[in-house]
Amino acid sequence: MRLLLAGLALGLAAAPPLTIADASECVGAGAGATGLAPFRYIVPDAEITAAAEALTPRLVETRRDIHRNPELGNREVRTGGLVADRLRALGLEVRHPVAKTGVVGVLKGGPPGPVVAVRADLDALPIEERRDSPYKSQNPGVMHACGHDAHTTIVLGTAEVLAKLKARLPGTVVFVFQPAEEGPPEGEAGGAALMIKEGVLEEPKVQAMFGLHMDPLLEVGQVGWAIGPVFASSDTFRIDVQGKKTHGAYPHTGLDPVPIAAEIVSSLQLIVSREIDAQNPKVLTIGQIHGGNRFNIIADAVRMEGTMRTLDASVRRELKDRVARVVKGVAEAHGTTATLAFRDEGNPPTMNDPALTRASRPALERVYGKTSVLEVKPQMGAEDFARFAEKVPALYVKMGVRNEARGITAMIHTEDFDLDERVLPLGVRAMATMIWDRLAAR
Ligand SMILES: [Zn+2]
Ligand SMILES: [Zn+2]
Repeated sequence: MRLLLAGLALGLAAAPPLTIADASECVGAGAGATGLAPFRYIVPDAEITAAAEALTPRLVETRRDIHRNPELGNREVRTGGLVADRLRALGLEVRHPVAKTGVVGVLKGGPPGPVVAVRADLDALPIEERRDSPYKSQNPGVMHACGHDAHTTIVLGTAEVLAKLKARLPGTVVFVFQPAEEGPPEGEAGGAALMIKEGVLEEPKVQAMFGLHMDPLLEVGQVGWAIGPVFASSDTFRIDVQGKKTHGAYPHTGLDPVPIAAEIVSSLQLIVSREIDAQNPKVLTIGQIHGGNRFNIIADAVRMEGTMRTLDASVRRELKDRVARVVKGVAEAHGTTATLAFRDEGNPPTMNDPALTRASRPALERVYGKTSVLEVKPQMGAEDFARFAEKVPALYVKMGVRNEARGITAMIHTEDFDLDERVLPLGVRAMATMIWDRLAAR
């Protein structure tokens, strides 16, 4: 292990060149708020960098520990416990468990100031890991295939770095470790929505929030940002078409739901391609269709399940309304009924606040270097960080983890996913610097 870490440290030394300014100064508008003379906040870039780099072996160890022991949504008992213990050891005020297995840690800086939150997600996926490594999953059929092990490690590392500099930290940081980002088990509440319901954004009242995701489409040493939507809305639905069973040779004596279901599937794609402005991205997928039990028996019902994605709240509403109209209308036209049901409230699109995004770019540039901070297109995947971003101005960034030379190219949610661990200290620096900049900017 020691040798392995030494080797990794060498690898880190060869990380892409990064431009680091010694410090950034922000002028605080203290006079207006407090009656005191204006003062200057110094963002301690060099100290954040040194602390994050010194922390690297521990970050790698933590990430590998969590990776070896993945847990599914709402079952992150070990992971949540590990996080709570670490935050307590740093002297933070800790709430645990929150929203089933989640953790919230509050770090109050010396000078009073704004309240900024940062969120990591704790859960893994029901995937059997294929890639062989010293940190391969020890939990059969469960794997950190979405990089949440790294998110948790980076946000823990951020807490560690900022706790060290606490005396000068100009405000309060709330560290949010959320369960069940991939969705809670059927029939259970969970995820960001439950955390909000349990008061994570209140007491102290959060004024801005940061989130992060590993991105295998970007090289390690690159970071992606966007203003407005970064991830799509997501709504899961079920359609049941009613039929009447009879012999397959005498369909007129029953009611065949199969061709009606087929017509619904086709008509739904007409909404996407013909009814909604082509300038507005949207996806509608029927991923499952089931009906009948024998080749010569007319089915008594057909059930379909699917997902719809949009990048805009009004398009999302429009799409949902039109799908309901088509399902009802097509069924009625053929003398039967069909029902449309949404599994839960779904997720809105994840929106990056324009002002917070613009204000945070200099921090990213100081950490990653100007040419490695890239504007990225929104993706049609979804992310429940959207719930937080609905409530407070938020910024969600994508951190590159790709390293083709080392064979790290697999997409998230696949059995071969892995990440270049050089993202860990970079991620800590990025989150700590963006948080400090936001606290200092007032
Ligand atoms: Zn995921
Ligand atoms: Zn994820």
